[in-house]
Amino acid sequence: MPTTEEAIEFLIAGNARFAAGASIHPNLTEQVRLETYEQGQKPFCAVLSCADSRAPVEMVFDQGIGDIFSVRSAGNVADEVVRGSLEMGVYKFGIPLLIVMGHTDCGAIKLAVDGDRLHGSMPSVIDLIIPVAETVREQNPGLGKDGLILEVTRANARHVVNELVKRSDVFRRKIVGGELKVMSALHDLKSGLVEWLD
Ligand SMILES: [Zn+2]
Repeated sequence: MPTTEEAIEFLIAGNARFAAGASIHPNLTEQVRLETYEQGQKPFCAVLSCADSRAPVEMVFDQGIGDIFSVRSAGNVADEVVRGSLEMGVYKFGIPLLIVMGHTDCGAIKLAVDGDRLHGSMPSVIDLIIPVAETVREQNPGLGKDGLILEVTRANARHVVNELVKRSDVFRRKIVGGELKVMSALHDLKSGLVEWLD
């Protein structure tokens, strides 16, 4: 298992290839498929990202089979099921790096900023983002709509990191023991580049 620093370097290098249109699509061979099946997975990072079809994590970081323990939800929000899923990856496989990644032009963020009324189970997603949107709006009264959406996207990723750590003994123990680093990030859909937020 790589160190936290090495894991970050893998992601930065893979994202640079992706953004440059120079992806090498590693670890997609039949051999890797069979090895990871027979020997089990050893993912080097866990990522919570949005379900948006333009933000597939393995492609954005140019990784392959067995590399990323990926959980996705609209707006990269985390309820108990999402938190438990991420805990499974971190606990079971000793993953040293957990990332919460938002993206530009996120539909869930826009809905929360607009305060749109929704039906079905969709409010359970948006209701987790609305308090973040309200805080950002209060703190940035001069911000236009596009700027507000972008800042809410950044703030939401940071907020989800804080909530995950606050509510998870598993993550806190690992962080205190120096075995886990948790970071937030923003994926720019146009450039393809990932901005590290902290
Ligand atoms: Zn999204």
